[in-house]
Formats: sequence, structure tokens, C-alpha cells
Amino acid sequence: MAKTPVLTPRADDFPRWYQDLIGKAELADNGPVRGTMVIRPYGYGLWERMQAEMDARIKETGTQNAYFPLLIPESYLTREADHVEGFAPELAVVTHGGGHRLEEPAVVRPTSETIVNDYFSKWIQSYRDLPLLINQWANVVRWELRPRLFLRTSEFLWQEGHTAHATYEEARDFAAHVHRRVYEDFLRTVLALDVVPGRKTAKERFAGAVNTLTLEGMMGDGKAVQMATSHELGQNFARAFRTRYLSREGRQELVWQTSWGSTTRMIGALVMAHGDDDGLRVPPRLAHIQVVVLAIKDDASVLARVREVGDRLRAAGLRVRVDDHTDVPFGRRAVDWELKGVPVRVEIGPRDLENGTAMLVRRIPGGKEPVALDQLASVLPGILDEDQALLLAQSRERRESRTAEVSTIGEAVEAASAGGWARIPWAVLGEEGESKLAEHAVTVRCLVAEDGSVPEADDAPGNVAVVARAY
Ligand code: AMP
Repeated sequence: MAKTPVLTPRADDFPRWYQDLIGKAELADNGPVRGTMVIRPYGYGLWERMQAEMDARIKETGTQNAYFPLLIPESYLTREADHVEGFAPELAVVTHGGGHRLEEPAVVRPTSETIVNDYFSKWIQSYRDLPLLINQWANVVRWELRPRLFLRTSEFLWQEGHTAHATYEEARDFAAHVHRRVYEDFLRTVLALDVVPGRKTAKERFAGAVNTLTLEGMMGDGKAVQMATSHELGQNFARAFRTRYLSREGRQELVWQTSWGSTTRMIGALVMAHGDDDGLRVPPRLAHIQVVVLAIKDDASVLARVREVGDRLRAAGLRVRVDDHTDVPFGRRAVDWELKGVPVRVEIGPRDLENGTAMLVRRIPGGKEPVALDQLASVLPGILDEDQALLLAQSRERRESRTAEVSTIGEAVEAASAGGWARIPWAVLGEEGESKLAEHAVTVRCLVAEDGSVPEADDAPGNVAVVARAY
């Protein structure tokens, strides 16, 4: 008997499938104000694991966490011309407080370069104060006109790093270091995404930056998602906020800066990259529940055994949930865990106990097999490693098979419209070609060098543009 699908099949309507999954896996709900989002406990658990993994990598770079205010005087935003031009259309502005009109309106931060620089200019006096490496975990507001849960919301959660350095080279190298050692490493080893590192074109650059580095991921329908960005700010904000230091030679110099961010968008990308028609598939290294141990039946010895197995697996270092809600039919609970994408289910009923086994169900490759109860703790870590590697391999296979090498703009548009990426020499495309792509809702996701490294300039010889439709 064919199963009735719980979700709209991806092949029928990918965006609809995504929306169904976010709701049915209990990741999030729409908030009452358009574009806002309520993140439910299962979704927030994914974010907490992302935070933990990213925070450890951020701290390894020598960066420390701090916190800046949510409200920024409106005049700060106007001090850097490109910055205000880029962000003005997306700003939420507070005009009243305590029942009175404010003398100066305050913007709800869309990003914090301006206010951070105000304080950096007070904290930095001499070269001894550099580099200054700060990160904050916070929420920001950008008034998005076409919101989509997680991928593009008006309020989102993120981390934003802000650093100041004595030289251009140091700042450039630090932005690149974060790009590779924090973001790329996290996205590959934890999220199991085969991302492409590259450089944004001038058109796609962060407002106020001199260079933006990006990591682009391919989703299940062949579209792209910008996963995280790392910016070289040059001296643009330093000039606007007089962020200066006294050099060893006794001169007042402007600092060189970087900023870098990653957001709850990563949860949406996780769904779109690894989900299938039965629901989400969470990479084991990310999963806050790696193994769920289910009692099939309301039976005293089954319940006792399920709890005991849960304790033993926890003691072996796994992240485990025991599902002993036998008042809900077993079939329904199994489907729910499948939707949530927990990597492994261990199902135990009276017959299993007689055999001294449990049914081990693997969400990522699919399939089930009985395993001796006393073997579970020793076999599961290996299985989780295998499934982590499988997701990354599938992500890579998809990107490779759905990326076309093309030599004309027409072919690039065709490849992107058919649900894939195209690689076209930047010398052929150029800024004019980039504008032509835009007429077909296709964008340059990034520029990469011939050898796959990140180019030092937009026009470096041999640069290839990776183009696609994007979320
Ligand atoms: P930015 O400060 O503009 O470089 O943004 C940092 C990161 O935030 C980008 O790399 C995007 O992946 C992500 N991002 C931008 N806008 C949104 C949004 N509306 N919702 C969720 N994530 C976003």
C-alpha cells in the first residue's frame, strides 16, 4: 500500500514542501507582524547547536563576545554614505518612546557597524589596543518585502563579528581566516554542506564594504543560498567615526576593519539542502537529538528497558531523547520523528525484548535492521559518522551534477532557469552581463579563481562567475 504523503512532494512544489516541512516538523510559525517568526523548541534546539559550534570556532580566532544596544541613533546610519544607501529601505525606525515623540529617532539595528565604531573610537588609542576582535550574538531587523521563514525574515538571529586592525593586510587576512576557519569549516563539517567559497561582485557587496567573501550552498531544487559573509570594510567606517590609533611611529592612523555574519537562515538552508519527501534529515554532528529511543507499546518491561537504553546511550556520549509517550499511537510518533529528521530511531517492543534486540532505523540512508541491545552503544557512533559523511557526499554530488560549464550568457540563464548553477568566465560575463542576468532573476553568486581559490580582485585573470537563482 502506498503511503499518503505527509508533505507536498518536492517535485510538485518545492516552496510548498518547504513551508509544509517547517510547520509539520515544528520548527517555526509565522509571527503576527508580517515577516516575523516564532522559532519553536525543535527549531531553536538546532540554532543552539549552531551557536555552540560557531561560538567555539569564533573564540579560536581570539575573538571575544560583547553586547551593543538594539537601538541606534538614526544619525549614525547616515555617516557612511554607501551604508545608509544600502540599508535605508530596510530600516525600522522608533519615533516615540514613553508616550513622547523622540528628539532623535532611533533605528532598530539592521547591523551594528556604526554603533560598534562609535565605541571602538573610544576604546582604541594606540597600536597596543589592536587588533580588537569582538563578536555579538543578537537579533537584527531588516524590513524584508518578500519574507520566507528562516531564509529571509524581517527579524533574524545572528552573530556579527567586528574587528579593527593596524594594517590593510591584517584586516584582509582576518576576514579570509573567519571565512575559511569559522564559516566554511562549520558549514562542511557540521552542516554537511558542500559550499562554494568565493568573492562577491561589486554589485552584490555589503553596503559599506570594499570586499565581501561568501559561501554559497546549493539547495534541493538547484537554487543557491548565501550561507555566511565576511567583509573587508577598508577604512570606510573608521573614517566616518574617526576610529584612529597612535602608531609605533607616533602618527595618528585610521584602523582597518572587518565584519562578518551568519544567521538563522542556516536553518532554512539545512532544510532545503538535506530534506526529502518524508521530512528533514539532520546531520548527526548538528543534531540536538541524535538518537530517539521509542517504546512501541505501553508495557512495564518495555518502558523500563527504553529508559535504561536511553541512559546507557547518554553515558556513551550521545544526545538522546526517550519517547515513552505510549498514549500516542506508535505509527504517528515514528512519522513525527521522521519529519523532524532525527538521524537514528531505536524502537523497542515486547517482541524485541524476547530477542534481546531493538529495531534500528536510519533516517539518512533509510532502512532498518535489528541490533542486539548490548551492542547499541558500540555501533551507534560509527553509524552516525557514516551518515554525516553521506550527507556531505550527497550535497557534493548534487552540486557537481547540477553545475554546468557554459560560455555564453544565454546558456547561463538556461542552466539557472532549469534549476542548477552555471560557471561562466567573468571575462565573458562582466558587469554588463551581470545586469542582463538580473532581467531573468539570475545573479552572480560569487567569483572563484580557476584553481577554486578566492580571487584577490573582481577582474583577476581567469576568474569564473558562479551564477544561479537564489533564495
Ligand atoms: P550582511 O550583514 O548583509 O552581510 O548579512 C549577513 C548574513 O545574513 C548574510 O550572509 C545572509 O546569509 C544573512 N541574511 C541577510 N538577510 C537576511 C534575512 N532577512 N534573514 C535571514 N538571514 C539574512
